[in-house]
Amino acid sequence: MALIVIGATIWLVLPPAPQAVDTTGWNEIAARTVPGAYHVHTTRSDGHGDRRDVAAAAARAGLKFVIITDHGDATRPSDPPEYIDGVLCLDAVEISTDQGHLVALDMPRAPYPLGGAADAVVEDVHRLGGFAIAAHPDSPRPALRWTDTEAPIDGVEWLNADSEWRKDSRSRLMRAGLGYFFRPGPALASLMDRPATLARWDALAARRPIVGLGAVDAHGGVGQRSEDASRSFAGTIGIPAYEASFRTLSNRVILDAPPSGDAARDARAIYDAIRKGSVFTTIDALASPGLLDLHVDGNAVVAHAARPRGSELDLYLGGRTVSASNGDLREAATRPGAYRVEVHLPRGPGDPPIPWLVSNLVYVGAPPPSNSGSSGATSAPVPGSIAPFPWRIEKDAASRAILRTHEFSVELEYQLAAGPRNSQFVAVATDVRDESFTAIRLGLQADHPSRIWVQVRTQAGRRWGRTYYVDPAGTELLVRLADLRPIGESQVGAPDPKSLSSILLVIDLTNAAPANSGRLTIVSSALVK
Ligand SMILES: [Zn+2]
Ligand SMILES: [Zn+2]
Repeated sequence: MALIVIGATIWLVLPPAPQAVDTTGWNEIAARTVPGAYHVHTTRSDGHGDRRDVAAAAARAGLKFVIITDHGDATRPSDPPEYIDGVLCLDAVEISTDQGHLVALDMPRAPYPLGGAADAVVEDVHRLGGFAIAAHPDSPRPALRWTDTEAPIDGVEWLNADSEWRKDSRSRLMRAGLGYFFRPGPALASLMDRPATLARWDALAARRPIVGLGAVDAHGGVGQRSEDASRSFAGTIGIPAYEASFRTLSNRVILDAPPSGDAARDARAIYDAIRKGSVFTTIDALASPGLLDLHVDGNAVVAHAARPRGSELDLYLGGRTVSASNGDLREAATRPGAYRVEVHLPRGPGDPPIPWLVSNLVYVGAPPPSNSGSSGATSAPVPGSIAPFPWRIEKDAASRAILRTHEFSVELEYQLAAGPRNSQFVAVATDVRDESFTAIRLGLQADHPSRIWVQVRTQAGRRWGRTYYVDPAGTELLVRLADLRPIGESQVGAPDPKSLSSILLVIDLTNAAPANSGRLTIVSSALVK
């Protein structure tokens, strides 16, 4: 009797198996639509399995590529693309910034640790030729949330499966937990709602092209990750497993031609397609496979999708539905702008329900201008300069520094103390008194590509600052006081120049590692009225 009751209960809470989608007539597009998982952790950071485990799980889930995004500062050379078990393994990095986590794709090794302010990290990723994606922008945990609203990111995770289950009520989690043992993917999908990030993405996309991806954020189990305070039961037994995560959702990249089987060539094609937004997300645990043809034909947006019967295809402009269709869609786009489609299932999980398919954006009319690597660098002449100042060294006790004064420049030779991270720093400082200046003009040069702080400080020790890239070929900086940010707690607003007592150029662990050494040359320095 007890067994019957238990059996009936399980049957009642069990999420439905994924619907099979009829793809008759889609052969050509299907051959060049490649499903993959994006945002995966391995034992290299806080995941439970190595890349072979990840590839094997992805192969079992029917995926063709995985983008591994272990935590790091981008100084580790990424592994070359490699097919393992028929799955193309791509190696990217998830960087921690002061304003949240940022995934950098398709990028060579960074010459110094990337970190600090989000906009500085995005600027570095762009200089290196990478593609910057804001990770879990609406994480329920404030420490992980992406809070920068200005940094020119290239992409956003419109969905992060890890954030989805962390926000849920205990009863919903219990239900899914029970269902997990019978249908892992559908149980994970049952925890999803329509993410608030979709609206945020639409707002950003009105200003510049921005790509949306669905992130599995798979660790092969919770509890081991550095982001978790304690080890949980679920993590100990490896839930959610990689395979369950990979069966929940995928990003389907639409290539110009089917994959060649050559890892480097296919990696290039996949990254190029992602960069131009030729990719869409499907929740495979609800229905699979999804196929999509979305394009602009003259002034019409044309969309058709291989999708479950009874689903609805909706066209969006600026976050609003402009038309809905049960069949194919051809909409005369009277307004220019960024259009995208969603497919909604009649009974999708969530409140509001999660869309089953989310496309990227296509543009009617001219797309907004794309990202340009903004920085404080300038070569424009600045009037009202005053003479250079004398500089002196400030540093922690264990780090080393020598200052050499030449006829036309000052050269700092430094080495941060080796050993564990212990707030190592080396700085050159100069005093200012009762000056009314609005900016600091600096001509700098470094022996290797570097990122340094420019800081200002009051007599009482309050500081403001910002980091700037310094090139071996020389960099001209115009550091506006109004652009500097408070360092430390409870300070607001820009510094008052009259209250400042020193200016510092600082090398610390924000963008250098213990034992790092180098030379920084101040070619020119001036206050600007
Ligand atoms: Zn993260
Ligand atoms: Zn992550």
